[in-house]
Amino acid sequence: MTQVGEMIRQMYINGKWVEAKSGKTFKVINPATGETVAELPDGGAEDARLAINTAHEAFKSWSRVSPVERSRSLEKAFKLMTERRDELAKLITLENGKPFEEAKKEVAFGAGYFDWFAGEARRVYGDVIPSPAGSRRFWMIRQPVGVVAAITPWNFPATMITRKIAPALAAGCTVVLKPAEQTPLTALAITKILHDVGLPPGVLNVVTTLYPEEIGKEFLRNPLVRKIGFTGSTEVGKLLMRGAADQLKRVSFELGGNAPFIIFEDADFDAAVDGAVGMKYLRVAGQSCICANRIYVQESIAERFTKAYVEKVKGIKVGHGFEPGVVIGPLINKDTLEKVDRLVQDAVKKGAKVATGGGRLKEAAFAKGYFYAPTVLTNVTEEMGVTREEIFGPVAPILTFRTEGEVIERANNTNYGLASYVFTKDLGRVFRITEALEYGLVGVNDAAGYGHETPFGGFKESGLGREGGKQGIEEYTEAKSIVVNLPQ
Ligand code: ADP
Repeated sequence: MTQVGEMIRQMYINGKWVEAKSGKTFKVINPATGETVAELPDGGAEDARLAINTAHEAFKSWSRVSPVERSRSLEKAFKLMTERRDELAKLITLENGKPFEEAKKEVAFGAGYFDWFAGEARRVYGDVIPSPAGSRRFWMIRQPVGVVAAITPWNFPATMITRKIAPALAAGCTVVLKPAEQTPLTALAITKILHDVGLPPGVLNVVTTLYPEEIGKEFLRNPLVRKIGFTGSTEVGKLLMRGAADQLKRVSFELGGNAPFIIFEDADFDAAVDGAVGMKYLRVAGQSCICANRIYVQESIAERFTKAYVEKVKGIKVGHGFEPGVVIGPLINKDTLEKVDRLVQDAVKKGAKVATGGGRLKEAAFAKGYFYAPTVLTNVTEEMGVTREEIFGPVAPILTFRTEGEVIERANNTNYGLASYVFTKDLGRVFRITEALEYGLVGVNDAAGYGHETPFGGFKESGLGREGGKQGIEEYTEAKSIVVNLPQ
C-alpha cells in the first residue's frame, strides 16, 4: 500500500531535474512513524537565483502565449492530476500523515484549481472606459505581473500549490515554487505533471530546502521577483511583508485563523454536531487554517450539544493514514504536538474541563509518531490561549453564549479573520450575522469550506488578497490604462 511507483527526488529548474549546487540534501520524515521517506536536495540562495533567472527568461515568451494555449496546458494538467490521484495521495499520506481517503479528496480538490483557472485564463477582461473629452479614448488591459515566488505550507501539500500556480500560469506569469520542507514530494509530483503535459522549460521551477529563510531572502532581494504568493503563519507573513516593502513587491498572503463555530438553539441539531466534528477534526487532524477554533453554543442547548458532540468524538478512529477506517492521522511534527498540548494544559490550569482526550497518544502503535487524542474542552473562557491562538490540532474548546449580539462581538474579538461558521434556521439572523462577522468566509449551515468558484482569503491579520474565484487570477495581473489622443 505504501509503495509509491515514482518518487521524484530532485529539484526542477529550467525544465531539468537537478541537485542543489551545494550537493547538500535533507530528509523527509513520515510523521506517523518517524521514518525517513526520502532525501532531497537542500537548495540555497544560489539555486533560487538560478530558478528566478530562468523564470524571468521564460516570462518573455510565456506571457505572450495565447490564453487559449495556456488554458489547454492547465486542462491537460487537470486530467493528468486526476489520473494520478492515488499516486499523489500516497505521497501526501507518507509525508503529511493525513488519512489516505482524505488525501485522495485533497488531490481531487487541488486538481480542480487547474480546471477552474483553465477557464479563467480566457476571461482576463479589461475595460473600455468612457472618456470625458471627445478627442481621447481610454481603455484598461490586464497583464501578467511577472515572476512569482510561491511559498506553500505542509497541511495541504497539493491544494496550496495548485491554488497559486494555476492562476499564475493562467495569467501568463512564471513561477519559482518553494514548497514546505515537510512535504516537498507532493510538490515535485505535481511539477512532474506539468513537465509531462509539456509546459515550456523555465515556466515553473521548484527549489526544495530545509532552510526556508535563505531562499525567502533571495525572493525578497531579487528585483526579478515581482510578486510573493504565500500561505503559512501570520508571523512569517509579516516577516515577508516587511521584506517585500523595500521593492514594493506585490503580495498575496493566506495566513492563520481563529474560526468561531456558532450554534444557535434553533439550528438543525444533528447537522450542527456533524459539522462541528468535521470542521474541527476531519481536516488534517485540525491542522487547517479554516478549522473551527472556538465552538460557541447557545446556553439553552449547550449541555445537550456537548453530550452528543463528545459521544461522536469518542468514536473517531485515530491511526496511521494507510489503515482502513482511520480519519485522524498524526500531527506534522514534535513542535506542533507540543504546542497543542501546551494550549490544553494551560486551559486546564485555568479551569477548563477535559470531556474527552487531553493528551498525547502513547500506546505502542502511536509511539513513534506525533499522535494527539481528539480532545473536547468545556468550561472554557476567552482568557485561555486555546481560544486566542490558532490551535492547529484536534482540540475543540466549547464556550456558551446567550444572545446574538453578544456572540457576534465575542467572535469578532480577535486579530484573525479567515473563516467562521453559523448554524441557525432564522433567515433574518442569517443576514444580520453574515454581514456582521469580520471574516473572509462565513459558512451558514455549512461546514465544507470554500470552493474553487469562491474568492478565499482573510480579513485583518489573516491575509491579503484572495485565491480562487474570479478574483484569484487578477492577483497575478497588473491593470494598465491606455490613453489615446486621436489625431485631429
Ligand atoms: P507552519 O507553522 O504552518 O509551518 P510557516 O509559516 O512556518 O507555517 O511555513 C509556511 C511556509 O513558509 C513553508 O514553506 C516554510 O518553509 C516557509 N517559511 C518559513 N519561514 C520562512 C522564512 N523566514 N522565509 C520564507 N519562507 C519561510
